[in-house]
Amino acid sequence: MHAIVYHGPGDKRWEEVPDPKLIDDTDAIVRVDTATICGTDLHILKGDVPAVTPGRILGHEAVGTVLETGPSVRTVREGDRVLLSCISACGHCRFCRLGQYGQCLGGGGWIFGHLIDGVQAEYARVPFAEALPPSSAPSCTHPPRSSPSTPCPPAGSGPRPSAPPPPSLPTRPTP
Ligand SMILES: [Zn+2]
Ligand SMILES: [Zn+2]
Repeated sequence: MHAIVYHGPGDKRWEEVPDPKLIDDTDAIVRVDTATICGTDLHILKGDVPAVTPGRILGHEAVGTVLETGPSVRTVREGDRVLLSCISACGHCRFCRLGQYGQCLGGGGWIFGHLIDGVQAEYARVPFAEALPPSSAPSCTHPPRSSPSTPCPPAGSGPRPSAPPPPSLPTRPTP
């Protein structure tokens, strides 16, 4: 497939890369129908986000169509249109149970185009796919990079409890 690949500050390329494959049982493979370019991508391209290393496929917001699902994914199936949010959620850790998906301790949070390959590509591997929201769901507005953490709705699985977070929760930057 083709994807936007980061090769260091100021160097991005639309190039041929291997197609993504299912890794975890909770993954889905999604055909990306539309992806966004976020201000965070511009920060990455300036070299402001050192956690993004050369070779990473960029992009963390898209809508697409499910092509394949892992054996543990029961709520979406081939052909479903889904929204891929900037914030993924394991759905099980204490922060996800509080609705603080940006602080997920189970491998979620801002990972697309940051810690795992992103969605500015023809196809994407999507972790925690059990509860991908349908693409008709309203999308969130990105908080400014410097604002307190206010994560978008989750792309992945997880309950959406209404309990407010305790005031002492630590925060970390969100995309
Ligand atoms: Zn963003
Ligand atoms: Zn979590």
